[in-house]
Amino acid sequence: MAYYADLTEYSYGRTAPDKNVLNIGWLSGDHDYPKGEVSDKDFLNFIKFLIKTPKNLYRGWHSCEFCINAGLDFRWGEAHYDRPCGNGEIMVKSISGKIYVAPTLICHYIEVHSYLPPKVFIDAVLYDAPYISVAQMNKYLYKKILDKSNA
Ligand SMILES: [Zn+2]
Repeated sequence: MAYYADLTEYSYGRTAPDKNVLNIGWLSGDHDYPKGEVSDKDFLNFIKFLIKTPKNLYRGWHSCEFCINAGLDFRWGEAHYDRPCGNGEIMVKSISGKIYVAPTLICHYIEVHSYLPPKVFIDAVLYDAPYISVAQMNKYLYKKILDKSNA
């Protein structure tokens, strides 16, 4: 997986760069990145929901470089969002027409490495993703509760 600075034009794979399609969360062990905490807990829940159905799957997996640099490479975790590796992307459309493309690893970067995505992306996830219907979200959260009680 290559490094792309946040909010640069997305051109991964064979697609031509597009000013309305922007990179988010393509971190690398060689580059510093913004750190902080997203105060709205729904943000991470939505991200976890989105990475359940990743787009643009690639062959092979990319592991988290920060974990590798720290000597950790636990490649096969239980749930997809717990793994420090990924091979897909999520896309978040904002009302402004911008589409943000992030690796599924973004969830791990946020949870484990305190990555703070740009505010425009956080807002798009929280407020502009109408395709995440309340019904879908409730179904997801309900399943989480069931999984926990069956564990
Ligand atoms: Zn990591």
